[in-house]
Amino acid sequence: MAIQAVRGVKDILPEDMPKWHYVERIARRVLETHGYQEIRTPIFEKTALFTRGIGETTDIVEKEMYTFADKGGEMLTLRPEATAAIARAYTEHKLYFPPGVFKVYCIGPMFRYERPQAGRYRQFYQIDAEALGSSSPYIDAEIIVMLITLLHELGLEQLALHLNTLGDAQCRPLYREELRRFLGAHLSRLCPDCQGRYERNPLRILDCKNPQCQQILTTAPTVQDYLCPACRQHFETVLQLLTAVDVPYVLDARLVRGLDYYTRTTFEILAPGLGAQNAVVGGGRYDGLVEAIGGPSTPGIGFAIGMERLIALLEEKGVVFPSPQPMVFLAALGEQAQTKAFQLVCTLRRLGIAIEMEYEPKSLKSQLRRANKLGVRYTLILGEDELSSGKIVIKEMQGEGQERIDLSQVVPFLQQKLALV
Ligand code: AMP
Repeated sequence: MAIQAVRGVKDILPEDMPKWHYVERIARRVLETHGYQEIRTPIFEKTALFTRGIGETTDIVEKEMYTFADKGGEMLTLRPEATAAIARAYTEHKLYFPPGVFKVYCIGPMFRYERPQAGRYRQFYQIDAEALGSSSPYIDAEIIVMLITLLHELGLEQLALHLNTLGDAQCRPLYREELRRFLGAHLSRLCPDCQGRYERNPLRILDCKNPQCQQILTTAPTVQDYLCPACRQHFETVLQLLTAVDVPYVLDARLVRGLDYYTRTTFEILAPGLGAQNAVVGGGRYDGLVEAIGGPSTPGIGFAIGMERLIALLEEKGVVFPSPQPMVFLAALGEQAQTKAFQLVCTLRRLGIAIEMEYEPKSLKSQLRRANKLGVRYTLILGEDELSSGKIVIKEMQGEGQERIDLSQVVPFLQQKLALV
């Protein structure tokens, strides 16, 4: 039997590429307009980066990492997310010089050993943006506004921005204890996962999807009541700034992120249309991360957009994706014409015109069939007759139009028709 792709991973076929290019093109434009530059970190890192940076008690580290020993015995992990790797690069290359905010984005695949289902894969793509070096609430607002602008530019205006604050190292431990005390009284009714989380990471219980856990949580204390004055002030400023630039939000006291390094502002974009896997974007502040992986104490904030889910939403909304540059086909008849056609094809391609020809001798009918299949706008026909008279036939594929023009006129003709000049 032929070997198939691994469970939970997907090929992105050429026919789907216009969607991915559309998203990537707009993302680059919007992110760069906001001063974020691209960074590419390796696909794999030392395992310790993620165990330290993401946290031992998170689902990612406990259950989902693709970890292996390489031939030298070093423990490596395929990156499950980009933030820890960017923080590592920031520290390693001392990107905190010159002082100021370091703003980057990264587009690429992530790997998590999760149970595959619609919208959840083991290799998936993210657009990730991070700002390191500032604890100003303006940066929180900037990155959220940038995200909303990007979604609008893509044609997605109606998505709900859910927002919360998690407090910081000062006030979160108090809340954690209070939450644990509350949950302790209901321990036997929590789902088995949450019973495990109760000891290791009680905050994670807040976003459990189990209906009985949700029911118990309706009366749980919220972090809002435990915020220290600095965290409260920070959050209020973020909310004021978002209001000042007309970005609506939904306050969601139960929104916690799976990763340990999150502090203060945390947010998600939810899309009801996506079913169970309805989170399209997750993000937040992580003021403890850089230090946790051995760098200088550095505040940071970022988000990650899941590209498969984003594209599913665009499809559902009926967004029209721009098609690639129209193509031309050159049908050659006879050996001599074939050589001349090859020269012409090479010249046209050098000039940026997308053109195809058949290298095996084929009848005109079969070549026109191929041209139709490619969906080309024009087919050039070069036979022995045309060759001896220095002419070429140009056939318009949508409609009946067909004309003979001088071979020397092919380039300007196509450049004009394809609006390349
Ligand atoms: P996270 O890094 O967990 O905050 O995830 C950020 C975004 O990445 C989510 O909102 C999803 O859109 C996407 N995502 C996370 N895990 C997966 C997965 N296994 N398959 C597809 N998309 C995912």
